Amino acid sequence: MLAYVALGANLGDAQATVLQAVNALAQLPGTRLLRASSLYRTAPFEASGPDFINAVAAISTRLSAPELLLNLQQLEHDQGRQRPFKNAPRTLDLDILLYGNAVINSPDLQVPHPRMLQRAFVLVPLAEIAPERVSDAQLAALALQTVQPLPDAKPLSPASKAR
Ligand code: ADP
Ligand code: MG
Repeated sequence: MLAYVALGANLGDAQATVLQAVNALAQLPGTRLLRASSLYRTAPFEASGPDFINAVAAISTRLSAPELLLNLQQLEHDQGRQRPFKNAPRTLDLDILLYGNAVINSPDLQVPHPRMLQRAFVLVPLAEIAPERVSDAQLAALALQTVQPLPDAKPLSPASKAR
């Protein structure tokens, strides 16, 4: 199944965490990494702490959606994520945006991700790698939210120029 995963981090070396998480996605059982967006920097939105680094990855996976969620939660856990309160700063957040064309509404998992259309830091990187999944109107609705692409950060070529 073709699935899209949103990655976000805002504690510690957030950029390194996201790059590492993209690589970790590629290592999941029965899963291939198809594309990864640029990294984007965003001020916290309904959250607190330092700026976030966000990206979206496209994967092809044999995992079911619930299995994928469990694997993503394990990766979050491996990064030492704790949930002291809602929207607390986090070392790593991994959300399933889309799982094929599935519509899932279970208590633990909603797909398409219910808040993706309200978040430029999700929609902009998704549009970069899957323009057919995001409409111009959806992007225009979020034009006031600023997300800044990091010039030299491409997840698949982490050996970019140091500044
Ligand atoms: P958020 O990502 O909204 O900031 P969390 O990462 O703490 O918050 O997620 C809280 C819960 O969201 C998870 O325990 C998970 O069961 C649930 N959830 C529902 N739908 C999804 C989805 N599409 N992707 C990831 N988690 C989801
Ligand atoms: Mg999450």
